[in-house]
Amino acid sequence: MSAEQKIQSLRKELRDHNYNYYVLDNSTISDYEFDIKLKELQILEEKYPEFYDENSPTLRVGGEVTKNFSTIVHEYRMYSLDNSYSKEDLLDWETRIKKQVDGEVQYTCELKYDGASMSLTYEKGKLTKAVTRGDGFQGDNVTTNIKTIRSVPLQLKGEYPQKFHIRGEIVLPFVGFNKMNEDRIEAGEEPYRNPRNTASGSLKLQDSSEVAKRPLECLLYSLIGNNLKISTQFEGLKKAHSMGFKVPKAAKLVNSIDEVLDFIVYWDQARHDLPYETDGVVIKVNSLFQQEELGYTAKAPRWAMAYKFKAEQVSTRLNDITYQVGRTGAITPVANLEPVELAGTTVKRASLHNSDQIEKLDIRVGDEVFVEKGGEIIPKIIAVDISKRLESSERTKYITHCPECHTELVRAEGEAQHYCPNYNGCNPQIVGRIQHFISRKAMDIEGLGGETVALLVNEGLIHNYADLYELKVEQVIPLDRMAEKSAENLISGVAASKQIPFERVLFALGIRYVGETVAKKLAKHFKNIAAISIATFEELIAVDEIGDRIAASVIEFFSSEENRLIIERLEAFGVRLELSDEQLANQTTTLVGSTFVVSGVFHSVSRDELKKLIENNGGKVSSSISSKTTYLIAGDKMGPSKRAKAEQLNIPIITENDFLQML
Ligand code: AMP
Ligand code: ZN
Repeated sequence: MSAEQKIQSLRKELRDHNYNYYVLDNSTISDYEFDIKLKELQILEEKYPEFYDENSPTLRVGGEVTKNFSTIVHEYRMYSLDNSYSKEDLLDWETRIKKQVDGEVQYTCELKYDGASMSLTYEKGKLTKAVTRGDGFQGDNVTTNIKTIRSVPLQLKGEYPQKFHIRGEIVLPFVGFNKMNEDRIEAGEEPYRNPRNTASGSLKLQDSSEVAKRPLECLLYSLIGNNLKISTQFEGLKKAHSMGFKVPKAAKLVNSIDEVLDFIVYWDQARHDLPYETDGVVIKVNSLFQQEELGYTAKAPRWAMAYKFKAEQVSTRLNDITYQVGRTGAITPVANLEPVELAGTTVKRASLHNSDQIEKLDIRVGDEVFVEKGGEIIPKIIAVDISKRLESSERTKYITHCPECHTELVRAEGEAQHYCPNYNGCNPQIVGRIQHFISRKAMDIEGLGGETVALLVNEGLIHNYADLYELKVEQVIPLDRMAEKSAENLISGVAASKQIPFERVLFALGIRYVGETVAKKLAKHFKNIAAISIATFEELIAVDEIGDRIAASVIEFFSSEENRLIIERLEAFGVRLELSDEQLANQTTTLVGSTFVVSGVFHSVSRDELKKLIENNGGKVSSSISSKTTYLIAGDKMGPSKRAKAEQLNIPIITENDFLQML
């Protein structure tokens, strides 16, 4: 046997053992034998570097170090899931589905794994990319780290599509988690809090050999791409399994919401015996065609629904109530609790939301309270155990003045939150606003973190985000622990942010209620900041999805002399305060005032492209037909009920070609 053949055969053998062990949980050789063979392969690979393969099983042990994880834009957005908590929620969901699709609906029930979501890309059977969910639009490239996870196949088996993506969850099973913690405690280190955070933290370790030491697993649940030759979610799971992925066996195909409920009831108990954490069930419409018909809301697919298991509860004592000031000046009361174990984490604090909440619960310092925690949600106080209340207890008096700057708080008509109105003089507001400005979804300033912002403000180097653009290296160097290199990075990071597109700058300004989506809408509609700053209330609320509250907040922001000055300075520094020529060129107003429903399969453009075209030309896309629909664009295999509805309401049904003609 030649060296090359020997290398190939060892790789194949080790790959098969890996698969048996980590995917099938069924090992056929001892760990010792496995290690010997791995060593043998390593030696051969070192001797014959010409046969290098980036997907060799030897690379599972890691070693490559990533300094900065690059950002990768997801080819297909990674959505969130809508949540349901009861049978009624699920029945409502089914009613909405039945309005939009024809025929029988089957559902795939899966467990909701609680870890870090991941998108893997395979090309020609090899893993080429592993990207975290990030904000759903783009995430971090963690390929090197993911390759160390033994249940992630580096080379697929059987038949596979040329190129596809597969979504899954990286989890840390309890056994491995506990073992890691035992080691840490032994080494005198603080134990990790819970498997989920440890799993997602692991993905961002710089040294992949550290990741390799962690017993992470990758559970897969959805194939994405073109020409996958599958027509249902359930087939997708089977196909993924046949290619060598670890697909949990719990998944079940059912025919009704009643059967979905059986699945939920069963797993609400059985989950306690699983090797990893689950926080619920995910129910998906099985037919991919029906999934397409249903489409997505701004955040989540309409064809999937998470069902959250009831959260665990404990009781503990409320030691104190403190108050936090957010970047918008909103005051949040925080309950400081006697530390207590809950769902695998130690809970010390819980949000009390606002003064109404405190009144409603009649919660008092010294009370014994019930705390609940579900999945990601910050612990919540559900109720007070009145039977344990001390006679000496006193009603909680809400603060009247800002705990940071002592300004008297205000509470607007109809609002639940108290605010500190000292916009320009209240430290946490100033710091918070700049921290928001530099954050990843906003100006994404590299080389500058939240703590440095606080330091810069407290040292008096900056007072608002425009000041960032006037910072000099020499000013920054004297700061705590700031090396020359980091100071230079900070300054060049600030300079680079001048390329950030207008809609993100608008979001970065931190106007109350102007989140990412609203910023996009405003940018698209008004095209530049000057237009937004002089827009009237009526002009603002005329924009899709902009309501009274947002409009009032925008007007208030621009009515401040101070804000206007800051924006003038940003403009002078070259920050983008208008849409780029390219963005403008791709936009027309041809379809303004028209609402389209898109249904069926198309040929010259995909359904998503059609929707984009509609929006870029000023039209609106809606998912269901109503009297407000202007046109129904019909593709092949469109559901007959949609057609009937359109005919009944006299809505013109057009083809994709008719539509393209319009443009
Ligand atoms: P949420 O973060 O609560 O919006 O829930 C959405 C997340 O659930 C997704 O990003 C996935 O990471 C995760 N998830 C876990 N298990 C599944 C599953 N079986 N199907 C789809 N998503 C899942
Ligand atoms: Zn204040």
